[in-house]
Parts: sequence; C-alpha cells; structure tokens
Amino acid sequence: MVAHGADSGSVKSAMNNSLTTNPATMTVLEKDAAYARLAADFAEDERVPEALRDLVDDERVTVRRSGVPAPDGKCVVYWMQRAQRGRDNHALDIAVACGNALGLPVVAYFAGISNFPHANLRHYTFLNQGLPDIEEDCAERGVSFVMRRAPQEDHLRFFSDVNAAMVIGDENPMRAPEQWRARLAEALTVPFWTIDADVIVPSKLLEKAQFSAAVARPRLYRALPEFLAPYTNPRAEVEWKRPRSLLADDVRADMTHGWTDFDRSVQPVEAWRGGHRAAMKRLSLFCDTLLASYDRDRNRPEVDGTSKMSPYLHFGHIGPQTIALAVDAAAKRNPKLQVARDSYFNELIVWRELSVNFVRYQPEYDSPGCADNWAKLTIAEHDRDQREVLYKLPQLEFAQTYDELWNAAQIQMLRYGWMHNYLRMYWAKKIVEWTPNVAIAMKVAIYLNDKYELDGRDPGGYAGIAWSMLGKFDRAWFDRPIFGKRRYMSGASTGRKFLSALYIEQMRALAE
Ligand SMILES: Cc1cc2nc3c(=O)[nH]c(=O)nc-3n(C[C@H](O)[C@H](O)[C@H](O)COP(=O)(O)OP(=O)(O)OC[C@H]3O[C@@H](n4cnc5c(N)ncnc54)[C@H](O)[C@@H]3O)c2cc1C
Repeated sequence: MVAHGADSGSVKSAMNNSLTTNPATMTVLEKDAAYARLAADFAEDERVPEALRDLVDDERVTVRRSGVPAPDGKCVVYWMQRAQRGRDNHALDIAVACGNALGLPVVAYFAGISNFPHANLRHYTFLNQGLPDIEEDCAERGVSFVMRRAPQEDHLRFFSDVNAAMVIGDENPMRAPEQWRARLAEALTVPFWTIDADVIVPSKLLEKAQFSAAVARPRLYRALPEFLAPYTNPRAEVEWKRPRSLLADDVRADMTHGWTDFDRSVQPVEAWRGGHRAAMKRLSLFCDTLLASYDRDRNRPEVDGTSKMSPYLHFGHIGPQTIALAVDAAAKRNPKLQVARDSYFNELIVWRELSVNFVRYQPEYDSPGCADNWAKLTIAEHDRDQREVLYKLPQLEFAQTYDELWNAAQIQMLRYGWMHNYLRMYWAKKIVEWTPNVAIAMKVAIYLNDKYELDGRDPGGYAGIAWSMLGKFDRAWFDRPIFGKRRYMSGASTGRKFLSALYIEQMRALAE
C-alpha cells in the first residue's frame, strides 16, 4: 500500500491523487488551492462511500492525497504527531468518523523519533509523561494506541504492518513537520488527510498573513460562534484485533532508553508533569482560583497568575478549544470573571492563533526577512550602532550579564523550563542590545528559547521573538540608538512595574 511496494500502474494513478508540483516550490496559497482541488476530486469520486466524501467539507480537513481507500485495508490509521491526546482532538474525531463510514476500526499511531529538531531530554520527558493518558483515553473510545520508538518507528512500515485503508494526520505549521506531511503524501498510495486540530478557528480560514492582532481579532472572533463548540469525542464502532506479533513499544517506559544520538544535556524539570490529566488539573486550578485576578496579575512575574498552559498546548496534551470552553464556562457561572475571560481570550485565541498564522504564511518566520518594511528600514539604519557591551553565547546562556533582572529571567528558563511572558519580551529585547546585529540576536534567542523552554519550538516562540526583536505586529515608536523605531524596554521601567526584587530572589533560590 505504500509507493515503494506498489506496481508501476498503481504508482502512476496514485500520482494524480496528490500534488503534481513539488510542494517545496509552492507558496502556502498555491498549496491551499491545490489541496482544495484534491478535496473537490475526493468529494465527487463516486467510488468512495458518501459518508466519507461528506467529511471533506469540514474546514479543518486538508486532503493531501485523494483517491479510494485501500479496498483490502484493515483499519484507518490516525498518525498522531502534534495533537498528542486521546480526547478533545478533531483529528482523532475525523479518523473515527472515517473508520465508522468505512466499517473499519481505528488505530492511533505515535512515532517516537529520536531527532526531533532541537528537542532534548527535557522535552522528551514531558512528552513521555503524556503517553499513558493517550493510551487510556483512546481505549475509552474504542481506539487502539500504538507507539513505536526509534529505531523502529518507520511510518510507512507501520501503515503497511496494519494494512491502513487511509491515513489521517494532524497539522503542524512549523517548517520541518510540514515537510514531513508533504513527503508522506508523496510516499503513500492511500488517501491522506491532515486535520487542523490545535487551533480554534481553522488556520486556512484567515486566508493570508495577518498584519496585526487588531486585524486578526475581529476575523477570529466572528468565527467563534461556529468553531468554539464542545467536542463530541465519538466512539469507534468497530474494534481492532491487534495482531499478536505487532511490534509496539511500552508507553510507560523511558522512550529515550538506549538512544545514543540523542541530546541529554538539558535536565527535565521536576515541577512540571506532562500529559492530558496534568493539563486538566492545572486548567481547573486556573479557572477556579487564578482566573479572577488574571487581568491584574498576568504582568506580574513574581506571582503565579497565568494559566501555564503553554507547554501542554505545545505538546498537544490539551487543545485550545478545551481551555477556551472551560474559561468561558467559568465566566458564565460567575459574570464578574467576564473581563478576565476577555483578557485571556485575547492571549489564547488572538495572539496564539496570530502566531500560528505567522508561521504558516511567513516562510522567513525565524529570520529578519519577516520584518515589515518600516522595521526593515529602521533596522538597516541602526543595526550597526555601537553596543555598550557584547556578550558571548555562554555568558547569556548561563545568566552572566550585568543585569540582575535579565539573569533572573534566564535562570527561570534554564531551571524551570518556562519564563514569564512579561520578561520574555524584556529578555529578547536585551539580546538585541548585547549582540552585534539583529540577525545574530534572533539566532541566539531562538537557540535558547527552543533548547530550554518546555513550550519552545512553537509558533508562539517565533512570533514572540519577531515581535520583540523586529517590531512584528507592533508599530513604529520614537527613534533611538540600536533599536531605531522598534519598541524599547528599559530595565529600570520594566523592573518598577512589578516586585522585581522579589522575583530576583525567587529565581536565586531556584538556582541554588
Ligand atoms: C520572546 C518571546 C518568546 C516566546 N516564546 C514562546 C514559546 O516558545 N512558546 C509559546 O507557546 N509562547 C511563547 N511566547 C508567548 C508567551 O510568552 C507564552 O505563550 C506565555 O508566556 C505562556 O504562559 P501561559 O500559558 O501562562 O500564558 P497565559 O497568559 O496563561 O496565556 C494563555 C495562552 O495564550 C497563549 N499566549 C499568551 N501570550 C501569548 C503571546 N504573546 N503570543 C502567543 N501566544 C500567547 C499561550 O498559548 C498561552 O498558553 C513568547 C513570547 C515572547 C515575547
């Protein structure tokens, strides 16, 4: 059922079911249009059961390969990559709907690769902690969960081992994961769809790169009545008889065991525990006790006042829709929470989905090339301005600058794997002042952010760094050295806005 095992006739017909142009040479808009044509072909293909054809009308579905499900296929596979959860997951819901339409069971598959870009032991430990929850939640819905870890995680081999009739994946706008999906669409000969499961409003509905939060906000909020709806978590109607000899790894064991080509340099953080259960526990605490003061406390790094959902969102242990529904329900129970709810929605929906839009539509999301024209001009004028001090990467990495507040923030990242939002902005802006130019500053910030933050390697990080360093989604301010017209944050004024001495003290304790 995979291209390398098929005869030349089936390979030829399969070619017409996927993109005819190399996706690497296409813009996102061209790809979206070509995938829409594949969906239209699928919807009209009378060889396919109607119940299955109807599913491609769902705005979350992207048909990356059309065609007829393998007639001798034994199951529908959900290849779970981004949305690592067995509940409240549109991709799994669609896989179950496909399985039910075809009268086939559903198998959820997770491939534990050992070389995920920039991930290390800290990230893998968090991910690993989430696997048992997925297995349990899938089982409750009649879905089998199989994890294979490197070196035996080859996708095509798995799809062939279980004889997949079709494959459902989730979406991930980051460069490498998007390429994996495009390559898989070329390699498969069965239908392959991806489902936009980790945003509330399907990303393709925004249609193009959004200029600012002010532009994106009304478009996103207009779509909420349609998309902010409770999940149905449908059950698979047909049970899968797992072949006795099927290779599968233990989800409760250390998935990194024995990996020699793997980065173990960053330690896991005991204070964090990954998984859907842990995410739901923190969400309840947030809704029950912290939400009331969110609007006031969200800019106070010395206070545990934000939801801390970002690592769970990054690993897909919880979806944004689950969080938004819980926060909305809390505000409906207690109308005094409405202001906090609105403020939280602005972060979770507007800024988060703007970040996804940014990475999806902006190929240069990790370099100064993504700056707007006004910012490019001011950067060109000031990028070579004399810096008072230049730090080398190890001095920044190990919090050895003259600035106590910055060092404290860096310690929070190093030791706790999560830095408070207010200080992330200050942290990134100071790196512009302390490195020779903004291109180097971005490289340093991305390197540190992705290496240490549990929520790193995420659209939120790339958008946050571009906002802080390039003025992306911001406006021009007064001209000044080094920053030009990009917004400046001084240590003195930043430190006066909250109890910075207390925060520095807290981070010192963390470092001991
Ligand atoms: C330089 C810099 C680097 C950043 N790096 C990351 C990163 O690697 N990963 C990441 O997820 N976020 C990143 N952010 C965005 C933001 O700082 C974090 O999402 C937030 O601090 C996470 O904490 P929380 O879950 O308690 O947020 P809350 O205040 O509780 O907000 C709820 C959710 O809204 C979203 N959100 C909040 N603020 C933002 C924002 N400014 N942009 C986009 N989404 C937002 C997050 O998903 C967050 O979990 C970065 C911001 C900056 C300025």
